[in-house]
Amino acid sequence: MSRADLSRETGLTRVTISDLIAELIADGFVAEMGVREASGPGKPAILVDLDRAGHRIVGLDLSGSDSFIGAVLTLDGDIVVRREVALPEADDVVSTVVDLARTLVGESHAPVLGIGVGSPGVVDDRGVVVTAPNFGWAGFDLEGALRGALELPVLVANDANAAVLAEYTFGSAADDVLLVKVGRGVGSGLLASGQPMRGSRFAAGEIGHVTVGTDGGPRCACGKVGCLEAWLSVPSLTARLAEASGAAARESVLRDAGERLGIALAPVVGALDVSEIVLSGPPDLLGGALADQTVATLRARTLAPSHDGVRVRMTDQGQDIVLRGAAVMVLSGQLGVS
Ligand SMILES: [Zn+2]
Repeated sequence: MSRADLSRETGLTRVTISDLIAELIADGFVAEMGVREASGPGKPAILVDLDRAGHRIVGLDLSGSDSFIGAVLTLDGDIVVRREVALPEADDVVSTVVDLARTLVGESHAPVLGIGVGSPGVVDDRGVVVTAPNFGWAGFDLEGALRGALELPVLVANDANAAVLAEYTFGSAADDVLLVKVGRGVGSGLLASGQPMRGSRFAAGEIGHVTVGTDGGPRCACGKVGCLEAWLSVPSLTARLAEASGAAARESVLRDAGERLGIALAPVVGALDVSEIVLSGPPDLLGGALADQTVATLRARTLAPSHDGVRVRMTDQGQDIVLRGAAVMVLSGQLGVS
C-alpha cells in the first residue's frame, strides 16, 4: 500500500501515517517497495510493506517423540533454517532447548523478533507449563527460564494450540475449527470465531484421556482403559497394525480408531458447531480409512442438517505445523499481527 492508501484505510492523517512509517522503517519493520505503476497523471505513489527480511522468528517444537525441532522462520512463516536434536534425558531438557535456540538465533542473520515454543502438556497464558508428565514438569515457568537464558522475547504454548494457529494463519482453516494432533499422545487445539479457546484451567482441547465408549478397550499409559489416546496415538496404532495380518485386518484397525475418534468428537461438534476437523500427524495412518470412518461416525451421531456437513481433512501444513504456529504466536505477541 502507499501512505495515502494507509491513511484512507485507517482514518489517520497523512502526517501521522508518514511519521509512523518513518519510525517503522527505522526499526526495520517496514520497507519501501518502489513505485506503483502509474495509472493516471501525477507522481506515482511509493508502496510500503512489512520488511520481510528485516526480522526473523525462531520457532521450537518440543512435541516430537524422539527429537526436538527448531527453525528460523521469516515473518511469512517460511522456514529458512531447520535443526533437529535428539530428545535429551529429563534433567537436560531446558539446557538442550536453550542450546538449540541459541544456535538458531546465531544462524538467523537478522534481528530475532522473538522465540515461539510449542510444548507438550497443559500451558497457561504466561507460558508456565502446568503439567507435562513426559518431562516431569508441574508448574514449571518454561517461558521465564528461556527468556532469562536467551534475553529475547519468548512465548510458550501447548503444541496443539500452536498447531491450530498455523492452520488458521497459513492454511485454509475456517473460523470454527478443531485440530486433532496425533503423535506420541493425542491433543487438540480449538478456535471459536477465530479465537483460541483456552478453558478455565488452560486445558481446553485435552481430549487424549477422555474414555471412548463403555466397552473397555486398550489400556492407557494413564492407568485407565479405552482412552482416546490408547486407540489413536501413533505408538498404539503402529503396534496394533503390526499385529494385523493382511490388508483387510489393517484397514479394520484404522476404521476402529477412526470410529473412536468420531465418537469422541461428536459431542464436541454438537456443542460448538465447528465446521471442520483437521488432523495433524502421519498421513499414512490418519489420512485414508481412519478419516473416512471418523466422518461416517460423526454423520451418524450428530444432528442433520446442522452438523452433517462437517469436514474431516489432513492438515495442509505438514510436519512443520508446530514450528509455524510458534511463529504466529511471536507475530501476534510482538507485532499484534494475526
Ligand atoms: Zn489415558
